[in-house]
Amino acid sequence: MQNISNYDFSGKRAIVRVDFNVPLNEKFEITDDTRIRAAIPTLKKVLEKGGSLIIMSHLGRPKGVEEKYSLKHIIAAVEAKLGAKIQFADDCMKADAQAAALTPGDVLLLENLRFYAEEEGKPRGLAADASDEEKKAAKAAVKASQKEFVKHLASYADCYINDAFGTAHRAHASTALIAEYFPNDKMFGYVMEGEIKAINTVLESPQRPLTAIIGGSKVSSKIGIISHLLDLADNLIIGGGMVYTFKKALGGKIGKSLCEDDQFDVALNVLSEAEKKGVKVYLSDAVVAADAFSNDANTVVCPSNAIPDEYEGMDAAPETVEKFRKVILSSKTVLWNGPVGVFEMPNFAKGTNAIAQALKEATEAGAFTLVGGGDSVAAVTQMGYADKVSYVSTGGGAMLEYLEGKVLPGIAAIQG
Ligand code: AMP
Repeated sequence: MQNISNYDFSGKRAIVRVDFNVPLNEKFEITDDTRIRAAIPTLKKVLEKGGSLIIMSHLGRPKGVEEKYSLKHIIAAVEAKLGAKIQFADDCMKADAQAAALTPGDVLLLENLRFYAEEEGKPRGLAADASDEEKKAAKAAVKASQKEFVKHLASYADCYINDAFGTAHRAHASTALIAEYFPNDKMFGYVMEGEIKAINTVLESPQRPLTAIIGGSKVSSKIGIISHLLDLADNLIIGGGMVYTFKKALGGKIGKSLCEDDQFDVALNVLSEAEKKGVKVYLSDAVVAADAFSNDANTVVCPSNAIPDEYEGMDAAPETVEKFRKVILSSKTVLWNGPVGVFEMPNFAKGTNAIAQALKEATEAGAFTLVGGGDSVAAVTQMGYADKVSYVSTGGGAMLEYLEGKVLPGIAAIQG
């Protein structure tokens, strides 16, 4: 494995996997260019050091070649940020001549990798009533052609950089498999380096106390990370819709609140494991409950285990938020994933916004604070605090899996 900061790119063609999966509106205008901006330092580094670039990415979830998912829509935005002209290969498998003609400073962008099923290695177009045999055969066929796909992409370049943290948890052609063609010339880009360093600061060498705030709607989708954190954190704050599963499992009345009845054992097990391991758990004990799932609903503040029958818990109430805040401000390392309320509705965003505020203050007081997951990132960004916390992760699913202690294929392929 090489290091991008001291690798000699001069005269070399670098194939770089970035995450240009940006949201576009109906006029194909980019509505959030965070991912493009994030990739620029890596791309600039190659050009400044005398190399040329072959950039590859996916966009959306096309089922084949679909014009609306073409990466040509983002060329102008990338050119403006990179300060370089971009050539475009409108078929990622037919860029041989363009790649071969690249000279130092040149930039070639490949069309959406997911126009080919081989990128993800999953068969497409199977009939709904396909038999198991047919499914197996289709899978084997795409896996076989995937080898050629990867080899072809690799043939364009002298070195490989993976800078797409958002897809690092997928063993796709361009995120993991291609690395084997560059045994001595593969490396992380700056986005990947930054993400790995930030998450490892929490996982491997946290300053204590370490507080993890896990919010969101479901116990079932967060149990992996919660379980892993029980071996790591000093304090575990649990908020959002999943609180009510805990409260009902403990015998509380939760009205019409979100609840996963099949997760009661899981929830109770978290509490008993936490006690055994000396992890302090803080649940939202007081909540704002509403008589409808609507921003304008009537509300009451009540204990989360005594919610009136016709009401549902929507946000952490001020006294709970104050408790969370004290825990956060007494911490040296804070990890936050998931909102503590239905933060998309302004009247129920107060708890989540207060968490963002507390993280900002904890950072100012010297704590290392890491925020990840679409909703928590949106909350710190909306509050204008994205650069006032220590690190904002760009990869929701990838970050969660890394924090669960899983090996991410995109990372392993470079390190291995
Ligand atoms: P997740 O994707 O699991 O991180 O969950 C995020 C979603 O949880 C957001 O869309 C929130 O609106 C939702 N959420 C948070 N608190 C609640 C709640 N009390 N009731 C219903 N949904 C909630």
